[in-house]
Amino acid sequence: MTAGMKASDIDVAIIGAGHNGLACAAYLAAAEIKVVVLEQNDVVGGAAVTEEFHPGFRNSVAAYTVSLLNPKVIADLELEKHGLKIVHRPAANFWPVDATRYLLMRRGLAERQAAIAQFSQRDAERLPDYDAMLERAADVLRDLVLTTPPNAGGGIVELIKGAGIGRRMLGLSLDEKRILLDLFTRSAADFLAGWFESDVVKAAFAFDGIVGNYAAPSTPGTAYVLLHHCFGEVNGKRGAWGHAIGGMGAITRAMAAAAEARGVRIRTGAKVQQIITRGDAAAGVVLAGGEEVFARAVAANVPPKLLFRDLVSANAVAEETRALFTGMRTGSGTFRMNVALAELPDFTCCPGGHAQDHHGAGIIIGPTLDYLERAYLDARMTGWSRQPVIEMLIPSTLDETLAPQGEHVASLFVQHVAPHLPGGRSWANAHEKAAFADLVVDTVTKHAPNFKRSVVARQVLSPLDIEQRFGMVDGDIFHGALSLDQLFSARPRLGYADYRLPLGGLYLCGSGAHPGGGVTGAPGHNAAREIIRDFKGWRGGPFVSKRKD
Ligand SMILES: Cc1cc2nc3c(=O)[nH]c(=O)nc-3n(C[C@H](O)[C@H](O)[C@H](O)COP(=O)(O)OP(=O)(O)OC[C@H]3O[C@@H](n4cnc5c(N)ncnc54)[C@H](O)[C@@H]3O)c2cc1C
Repeated sequence: MTAGMKASDIDVAIIGAGHNGLACAAYLAAAEIKVVVLEQNDVVGGAAVTEEFHPGFRNSVAAYTVSLLNPKVIADLELEKHGLKIVHRPAANFWPVDATRYLLMRRGLAERQAAIAQFSQRDAERLPDYDAMLERAADVLRDLVLTTPPNAGGGIVELIKGAGIGRRMLGLSLDEKRILLDLFTRSAADFLAGWFESDVVKAAFAFDGIVGNYAAPSTPGTAYVLLHHCFGEVNGKRGAWGHAIGGMGAITRAMAAAAEARGVRIRTGAKVQQIITRGDAAAGVVLAGGEEVFARAVAANVPPKLLFRDLVSANAVAEETRALFTGMRTGSGTFRMNVALAELPDFTCCPGGHAQDHHGAGIIIGPTLDYLERAYLDARMTGWSRQPVIEMLIPSTLDETLAPQGEHVASLFVQHVAPHLPGGRSWANAHEKAAFADLVVDTVTKHAPNFKRSVVARQVLSPLDIEQRFGMVDGDIFHGALSLDQLFSARPRLGYADYRLPLGGLYLCGSGAHPGGGVTGAPGHNAAREIIRDFKGWRGGPFVSKRKD
């Protein structure tokens, strides 16, 4: 134990200063609970960080776009007062289709209908109904985001059947419940087939269903992931995607400032090696190097799989219990690059190298449903797709703090990249990583011929890099797949959905808990509420968490 870290000083030790750990800390401190946050890296933020990757060029390292960040968390933590500013993209997404055609989805309904009408008049006419349907479904999720799911409840299907959770559910018609059931259980391709006829239009909507999901649009469950990506809002605009000025690190810097202003102590370069247990309860942690930090309770911002594989010692929980968590499905199949650009990409289908609205949109290479499907099948066979699905964002078109004037930075986020390469190959091999990064640049260059020569520098993160840098097991960006068996009451595992883990005083406050991944702040917010509840009921003596049924 170090000076200043006496047992009585600390109520809760939080493992990890990801955005959820920081949010949880700030809420606890507001309830006068004494918190220390222990982060293995030298900077706070987890996967929501910004860094200079080439002299003069800064960008978000992993997460790169804002939508899911919960408005209540923004308000409660006064993130704007602590420097956070989020701006809108001029258009949501831009899909280059071929040499002459593209789909540019702006925000207004009439503009989006006009864009879609180039591919199908009928699809354009269906858009208002589709929007309304998705919005009502997303509303149900929004209602559930900040709730604690029942521990003994079932998965998502039971949730629909029960219809008792979430105010909105009560007002849904039978038809709307059917739609929700479809969204929660079907594939994005099946679901969209009921709405649209154009393959391009279907691909545009299906894209959200495969992000971080290592699945084809035809895989059951992808319709839910599509919906998961829709429940966010930016500055009060629902379903919108935005940019944090200064990159995603601006969010976590503001959260850290909010937490510290409330008295939270944040330690970086403090890797937790093991949970200390007393009896059947967590009593603190041991850091790499041997320092012991005692606390009445411990909250883990790390993925549950990592927690039970590496940090909870052998005799602390029954082997079957440990296996529940180490058996979680992980591996989002994602690859991330940043590039420094001498000039903006000049797209063949939408020419011009001067900044236009499509440069500020999410630029998605994945023009048809078949393309998305093939990319997945290819990746399953060979480790990555020969025609990869890429989202590129050029945040410097919205934010002059990121690159020298006239130059740019782009984030590239690639789907369907195997967490572990087949045939004895490995991401630890620099040639594999470079070969795939080259393919990504070449793929964008097919649509924007000046792209390759404009790349001045690049930063490349394979699934292995994502794991090593952030502790995201198997490079899983959500701390565990957003599959039906790992959502709501079943997240992280059935019986442990109330943020309390199977060791007294041990809580889960990261993305492995409900409502899952993304820069939302919701798991941190919800875990804090449960921890505060237990502290309020605590009457001295050894601290115990109060499991709910
Ligand atoms: C490449 C990529 C792109 C993404 N894109 C987006 C996006 O655009 N928008 C979006 O909303 N979401 C995106 N996500 C998802 C989102 O970033 C994550 O789901 C979210 O950041 C997870 O937050 P968290 O606080 O739960 O955990 P994390 O951010 O994973 O934080 C966990 C923290 O724990 C620390 N840690 C781990 N082990 C230890 C230990 N033993 N001791 C001490 N500290 C430890 C880690 O270093 C880390 O700081 C992306 C993620 C990735 C990786």
